[in-house]
Amino acid sequence: MLKPKKNLGQHFLRDHQVLHKIALSLRASEEDEVIEIGPGEGALTDYLYPEYRHLHLLEIDRRAIGFLNKRFPNATVHHSSVLDADWEIVTEAKGNKYIIGNLPYYITSPILFKVLDSGGFFEQAVFMIQKEVAERLVAKPRTKAYGILSVQTQLFSEPELLFTVSREAFQPRPNVDSAVVSLLPFKEKPDVDIAFLKTVIRTAFNQRRKKLSNALSGLITDHSRISVDLSKRAEELEPGEFVILARSLK
Ligand code: SAM
Repeated sequence: MLKPKKNLGQHFLRDHQVLHKIALSLRASEEDEVIEIGPGEGALTDYLYPEYRHLHLLEIDRRAIGFLNKRFPNATVHHSSVLDADWEIVTEAKGNKYIIGNLPYYITSPILFKVLDSGGFFEQAVFMIQKEVAERLVAKPRTKAYGILSVQTQLFSEPELLFTVSREAFQPRPNVDSAVVSLLPFKEKPDVDIAFLKTVIRTAFNQRRKKLSNALSGLITDHSRISVDLSKRAEELEPGEFVILARSLK
């Protein structure tokens, strides 16, 4: 058993019913390639290993590598940070790609963005994340949880909050409750300069209580070209309206 390292987000899930339910949430078939982020001691891997012939385990903690290799001899263990991993190299470019993991919470957003930015490389992602972040991913306009993460996630994928998990299910117990989400990344990205789209979303939400005409004043050069109602606030716009806005601002 690994002595948990807080700086690596190591909260090990001990509830076998929950582990099984997470594994069952992945809609991959036996021949598909599955990446697991942060297998740790292999609690979730135990449920994935019998199901998938092409399983890749990405773990940063050197202490776990030998154990994982021994316990899961047919899986490919990568001693690497998920943030440095090149998806093309990790997998063998054969079957459809899936990704799953009880994420290390200190890097939830960078992992989400890395998966969303990969342009439909994955058919599905199943992640356990903080409940509060999960609620933001699926939030609708005009709610408190709706923000940058909601808009970007919903523009690049179809997110679903599958179920919540109590903090009591972990060892050591984290300070937050968790939730399992499924993301179905879209094959096509929105037809717009993506970096600029992100700038528009970020700028609009930086002053979410202000009208867009004020919040985006630094980006607007010609009001007549803009078909989105600029008297609205960022939190009132549907995700798709940000694409229209970015196109007309460019
Ligand atoms: N899968 C195990 C479970 O369900 O009990 C462990 C989950 S624990 C919340 C997160 C895991 O991610 C830990 O094993 C940790 O070492 C690993 N991890 C942390 N940072 C990582 C990174 N940058 N890249 C890959 N794995 C990482």
